[in-house]
Amino acid sequence: AKHVKAASYLRLPPLPSTGDLLKLYRIRGRKQLSQNFLMDPKLTSKIVRSGGRVRDCHVCEVGPGPGSITRSILEQKAAFVTVIEKDPRFLPSLELLQDACSGRLRIELGDVLTYNMANSFPSDLRQPWDGNVPKIHIVGNLPFNISTPLIIRWLHDVSVQKNAWVFGRVPMTLTFQYEVAERIVALPGEEQRCRLSVMCQNWCHVKHSFTIPGRVFIPKPKVDVGIVNFVPRVEPLIPLDFSLVEKVLRCVFQFRQKYCKRGVAMLFPKNLRDELTHKMITVADVDPTIRPFKLTMREFNRLCLAYSTILKQKPSIAKYNGGKEFILESEELDEDDTNAEDETS
Ligand code: SAM
Repeated sequence: AKHVKAASYLRLPPLPSTGDLLKLYRIRGRKQLSQNFLMDPKLTSKIVRSGGRVRDCHVCEVGPGPGSITRSILEQKAAFVTVIEKDPRFLPSLELLQDACSGRLRIELGDVLTYNMANSFPSDLRQPWDGNVPKIHIVGNLPFNISTPLIIRWLHDVSVQKNAWVFGRVPMTLTFQYEVAERIVALPGEEQRCRLSVMCQNWCHVKHSFTIPGRVFIPKPKVDVGIVNFVPRVEPLIPLDFSLVEKVLRCVFQFRQKYCKRGVAMLFPKNLRDELTHKMITVADVDPTIRPFKLTMREFNRLCLAYSTILKQKPSIAKYNGGKEFILESEELDEDDTNAEDETS
């Protein structure tokens, strides 16, 4: 068995470059789908390495396109790779890679936003949540309009330990528009601090490993690309229900430049607003005149706890949502975009 294992890890046989494959199959990146491809093996291999060693691990790559990151994962001796790609035009080049890697690649045609990875890995890789990180990685260079709603969805799945996270604290390496990567890792008081920072940092340890200039992608996006590594935390810093935390953050960050009490007030209907805002801020022991981006994780934790206590006393308040529908869509996150511009202007 040792012999077979060693043989299957031989380097991939020479293959046409990803660029040649795109030409061969006459595939052009579709601008409207934000298909920007990375061709430089040094960079694809750096992306894979940034999340830690994948040797002997099972890796799930989302949005492989023609497969340049996939090659790097295979060359770094992953035991097995599953790719999830939406666009069938990439099947021939992915199948070429599959033929070249002695059965170490499974291709799934599908949408990563609805794909469930709960059965994608061998069950003996499961680790207890508070144990070691399992020998599983998720990697992806996805279109920007997918990567932000996807990480929010996956943070939810991390919070309830479903999808890939039935296997334990599976780490992720994902690409984002540079500005979004900066927001994900922004600390309290930093200009980029927003709802997304608190959400990501609550359920994961996050690291903005490095940045790739937009010009090296084909076709070139207008922006640079940040590589972010996520490792789920054993205990979230705010150990409360995902939707409650998201709702409090959404309201508090609604007025980034105003006192935080303005946003807190949005959690309550008009007739109870003054009374309950005062109560929540007092119980949480937070300065009502601090700006939302300066609030620490501990302060957010106390605010969320205070809100959940108020909800227990007055369950009907839960319905109230600052007059806004509560959904996990990308357009919601665009609000943060607008706000960030406000802040710098
Ligand atoms: N990973 C390749 C690279 O780095 O060169 C391709 C990157 S390209 C920015 C994004 C890829 O994700 C495309 O191949 C696109 O078809 C795929 N994709 C987009 N939305 C997807 C989705 N919802 N589910 C799965 N794949 C998706």
